[in-house]
Amino acid sequence: MKPNKLYCDLFGHNYQITKKVTNHVNEYTCKCCKKQLTTNSNGRLTELTPKHQDINTALERLYNNKAMRLKRKTLTSSIC
Ligand SMILES: [Zn+2]
Repeated sequence: MKPNKLYCDLFGHNYQITKKVTNHVNEYTCKCCKKQLTTNSNGRLTELTPKHQDINTALERLYNNKAMRLKRKTLTSSIC
């Protein structure tokens, strides 16, 4: 969609969070041109390449495991 791209060039991208990977890493998609960004290890925004997608998938898995463990721990300690 060329007109959307032009809009982005003129006014900047209109990024929305499309996926929360961890507390610090998100994936963003521009509502206009569908360009995708992600947070890299430096905390900066960078283009979402297939490599970053792989990293994010791995991060997400790790993060979810950790979050689940924490949740279970909290639950147990509140019962005891
Ligand atoms: Zn855009």
